[in-house]
Amino acid sequence: MYYSISVLGGYILFVATKLSLYIHIPFCIKKCNYCSFYSIPYKTKLVDKYITYLKKEIELFSSEQNYTIKTIYLGGGSPSLLSFTHLFKIITTIKEKFSISENPEVTLEVNPINVNKTAAKNWKICGINRISLGIQSFHNSELKILGRIHSEKEIYPGVELIKEHCTENISLDLMYGIPFQTKKRWTTSLKKAINLKPKHISSYCLSIEKGTYLADKQNEYTFPDEKTQSDMYYQLIDILKRNKFYQYEISNFAQTGFESKHNLAYWNGEEYIGFGPASHSFYNMKRVNNYSDIYKYFECLDNQELPVENSKEISMSEFISDKIVLGLRLNKGIPLSEFKKKYNFDIEREYEQVIKKFLSSGYLTIQNDKLKLTSKALFVSNSILSEFV
Ligand code: SF4
Repeated sequence: MYYSISVLGGYILFVATKLSLYIHIPFCIKKCNYCSFYSIPYKTKLVDKYITYLKKEIELFSSEQNYTIKTIYLGGGSPSLLSFTHLFKIITTIKEKFSISENPEVTLEVNPINVNKTAAKNWKICGINRISLGIQSFHNSELKILGRIHSEKEIYPGVELIKEHCTENISLDLMYGIPFQTKKRWTTSLKKAINLKPKHISSYCLSIEKGTYLADKQNEYTFPDEKTQSDMYYQLIDILKRNKFYQYEISNFAQTGFESKHNLAYWNGEEYIGFGPASHSFYNMKRVNNYSDIYKYFECLDNQELPVENSKEISMSEFISDKIVLGLRLNKGIPLSEFKKKYNFDIEREYEQVIKKFLSSGYLTIQNDKLKLTSKALFVSNSILSEFV
């Protein structure tokens, strides 16, 4: 059985818990210009081999203990490139090796270019009940700058096919802060996204990561300045609010009841396991990450070893600090008395100076015993959250 740690009145309690499970599918047709995730070119033989090794990793990991899985998330990379046989094999292995909660949320990240009627039907057969569609923009010029392989025209039939043959539970990913993007173009993308009637929207500002194509070419592009990016972010909040999407996390919006259960588990500081190269896990007070190299991954599994590059026990103070940083990302905030009772940790006392500073500058608020970021803090949340580390 699997346990999480809870501290009550100085005593450590072990509480049976359910886990979220992430599977990394590291293959893409082409690297996007902004992408710093671990992804490699799709090659049929390599994918065949990978699925066999993924099965090995899951079997090796699950051979020691019994777990209950409450959400499954297939991300990447481009998991929508997988054939029915591959996807079915992964899901079957998970079901064979773990206990699964009733009605688990099972999400598949999908590139619009991979959607067709057969694929959508197959996803449903495999038990996929949530699709996260990587749209990013409705403007072909912006998609080109981002190096995406799809164009606007694949988005509309893609959404319809998913709704008709797989699930209505669709999340759209949108990006702002793209070179040459204007506020007007951004609102056009937002409105087109809303017209597709998704249940959930995630939206992040483009960040230029070292080693990416855009990082090398950034002098050739004009990026929206910080004020424009901030305006775009607040446009996002405003337009989605007017269309009945409530913001439950800094970058995530949902119709009531359609929040991402998988991502909420991360933000609530719950335990999760990741399989595949470059995946991360957090369980038994350990942070674990796998090698970000598929050949090293194969080599470890050939030796009957888990492909773990780092495994670090975290102290109770790191655990508490993570809980606070993640909890503040959520719009519901952190219930102070409940937190104190559960973890024997008084946030107001321990972070007195930081909280005082941000309360007086209007970046934090305490309402009904809940510590929360204010609206004006949301766009600059990283610098505020860093003071709780
Ligand atoms: S599809 Fe996703 S993982 Fe693949 S290169 Fe593009 S951003 Fe990266």
